Amino acid sequence: MRLDDEQESSHFEVQSGRGGGLGGGGLGMLLPLIGSRFGCGGIAVVLIILVVMGVNPLSLVGGGGGQPAQTERPSTGELTDVQRTSLKVLGSTERRWADIFKAEGQQYPPPTLVFYSQNGQSGCGAAQSAMGPFYCPADQRIYLDTDFFREMETRFNAPGDFPIGYIIAHEVGHHIQTVTGEADRIRKAQQRASEAEGNALQVKMELQADCYAGVWAARDTNLMEPGDLEEGMRAAEAIGDDTLQKAAGRRPVPESFTHGSSAQRMQWLRKGLSTGDPDQCDTFNGAI
Ligand SMILES: [Zn+2]
Repeated sequence: MRLDDEQESSHFEVQSGRGGGLGGGGLGMLLPLIGSRFGCGGIAVVLIILVVMGVNPLSLVGGGGGQPAQTERPSTGELTDVQRTSLKVLGSTERRWADIFKAEGQQYPPPTLVFYSQNGQSGCGAAQSAMGPFYCPADQRIYLDTDFFREMETRFNAPGDFPIGYIIAHEVGHHIQTVTGEADRIRKAQQRASEAEGNALQVKMELQADCYAGVWAARDTNLMEPGDLEEGMRAAEAIGDDTLQKAAGRRPVPESFTHGSSAQRMQWLRKGLSTGDPDQCDTFNGAI
C-alpha cells in the first residue's frame, strides 16, 4: 500500500494496563448467572478452575482489586510502525467515506480506533487478542491488538501490508452498517430467526463489510500498488470460515459459518474493489 502521503487519523486511543479478564461486569455478573443455573456447586467449580489457571478471582469481580485499563492519547510519534500504518488506513477510510456520505447530503461520523495489548476493555465486554480485531457498535470503536497482524503473517500465512488495510476497512464497514441502521435491522431479523437463519444473516453482514472494504480501496486510487490485490485476496482466503475450520482439523459445516467461505469473502472484496460503489454491496437481496 502507498500510504506515505496519507494523514494519520486523530481518532484513536491506546489502552494500557490489564483490563478485567472477563470485562464489563466480569465475574460479578457471571457468578449469579452460573449460580442460578448450576447452584453454588457451579460457582465453586468456576472459582477452582480460575485458581488453577492462575487467575485471582477477586481481580475479576467488578473493580475489586483489578487494575482497570487506562486510556491514553500519546502523540503519533510515540506509536509503533504498525499502529501508524493502521491510523493512516483509518484516516484514508475517513476521507473516502466522508465523500460518499457527502454525496448523499450526509455527514460521516468516524469511529475511534483503540489499540490494546492482550487484555482490553470495550463497550461490548472484554477485548482479548484471541478474538482478533472487532467493532463494538455500543461505543462505535474498533478494537485492535496490534500483535494480531504479526500472528496473521505467521499463522495465517497472509503477509504484506494490504491485509492491515483490508481488516481495518472491514471493521469500518461494520461501523458504516451501524450508522446507516443496517446493523440494527439485521439484529432485529436475527431475533426472529432460527439459529441457521441467524448465522446466514451474520454471514451476509460480514460479506457486506468485506465489500465495503473493497469500496474504500477502490476509491483511494493512490493507495494500491502492484501485488496489493493478491495480498488482500490471500488474506480474505486465509480468514474464510471453511479455511479456519479445516485448519482447526474440522470438516467445514456451512450452517455454522459466521463470516462466509474463503470464496465468498474474496468474491465480495473483489466486488467492492471493482465497482467502488457501496450500493453494489447489497448482500442481503439475491444470492451471495
Ligand atoms: Zn466482521
